[in-house]
Amino acid sequence: GTPLLQVEGLKKYFPIKRGVFRHTVGHVRAVDGVDFTLYPGETLGVVGESGCGKSTMGRSVLRLLEPSAGKVIFEGKDVTKLSKSQMRAMRREMQLVFQDPYASLNPRNSVAQTLMEPMQIHHIGNRSSQIERVRSLLDRVGLDPEYASRYPHEFSGGQRQRIGIARALTLNPKLIILDEPVAALDVSVQSQVLNLLEDLQTDFNLTYIFVAHDLSVVRHISDRIMVMYLGNMAESATSDDLFDDPLHPYTQALLSAVPVPDPDAKRERIILQGDLPSPANPPTGCPFHTRCPMAMDICKREKPVWKEVKPNHQVACHLY
Ligand code: SF4
Ligand code: MG
Repeated sequence: GTPLLQVEGLKKYFPIKRGVFRHTVGHVRAVDGVDFTLYPGETLGVVGESGCGKSTMGRSVLRLLEPSAGKVIFEGKDVTKLSKSQMRAMRREMQLVFQDPYASLNPRNSVAQTLMEPMQIHHIGNRSSQIERVRSLLDRVGLDPEYASRYPHEFSGGQRQRIGIARALTLNPKLIILDEPVAALDVSVQSQVLNLLEDLQTDFNLTYIFVAHDLSVVRHISDRIMVMYLGNMAESATSDDLFDDPLHPYTQALLSAVPVPDPDAKRERIILQGDLPSPANPPTGCPFHTRCPMAMDICKREKPVWKEVKPNHQVACHLY
C-alpha cells in the first residue's frame, strides 16, 4: 500500500537567546533527526523520558511547531511546504489529543460548544447537523448524548479525555497524535480509554502516533515502537520484537522497569546512573554514553549510525 505519513530527517531546534539584544547563543536540539513511515490504520508508539523530544516531534509533524529541517509527507504532500491556508485545510486530516484533557478544554464552553467549534471553523454543516454530529460522537466515545449541555468541571478525568477524543474525531481525521492520552488517568480508567482508542481505530481506520513515557502503555496498541533519547532515535521495531529482543541499552533499561506477569521470567532491573543531559548541550558521540552501562571508548567520540540489524528492526548503537 501507500504510506499515509513519511517523516524524513525531522529536526526541531529552539534558539537560546541571551542579553538585551536577544542574540541567539545556541540551540536546544529537541528533535535531532527522526525518520519513520506509517501506513493507514497503523499505530506507531513513541517512547522516552520527559525531555526526549517525543511531544515536540508530534507537534512538529502537525506543524503546530515549525520544523527546523526535514520532510513530513502526508498523503504524498510535504506539509512543511504548505501555505498557511493549505495547512488549515490539512489540519482536518491530522488531529492532536492532549495529555491533560482539563487543560485543553475551555471551562466556559459546554461540551456541545467544544465539539462544534472545529466544524464551525471549517464551515461543515449547519447548526442542527453539527448538534446531531456532537450527539453521535458522544455516544461513540461512550458518553450520554445528553451530556452535550454540560461543562468540563462536571466530568471525571476519564470522561474529559473521552470528550477530548470526541473533539479530535469531529472532522473525520486520518491521523491522530495521542500525546500521553492516559498518563493523567487512574490505572483502571487507562485501560478503558486504551480500549476505546483501539475500537475507534478499527471503526474509522485511524492512524495513530501514540506518545508515552511508559512502554507498557503502548505495547498492545502499537504495531511499531520507536524509542527516543535526547531528540534522537535509539531503536525502532515491531512491538513484539522490541519486547522480546530489545537491542539498545536504553531500551533494555526502560524494559527492565516494566513489570512482568510471570515472576519466573523476571528481568534484572537496570538502574540508569545520572540525569538526562541537557538537549542544549548534548554529549558528544552517542547521546546516551553518559548513562550507558555498556559504553565503550568509541561511544564518546562517534555518533552511532541508524542501522537495520534485523529485518524491520533498527538501532543506533556501536554494539551492533
Ligand atoms: Fe551505549 Fe555506546 Fe551503544 Fe551508545 S553506542 S548505547 S554508549 S554502547
Ligand atoms: Mg493497532
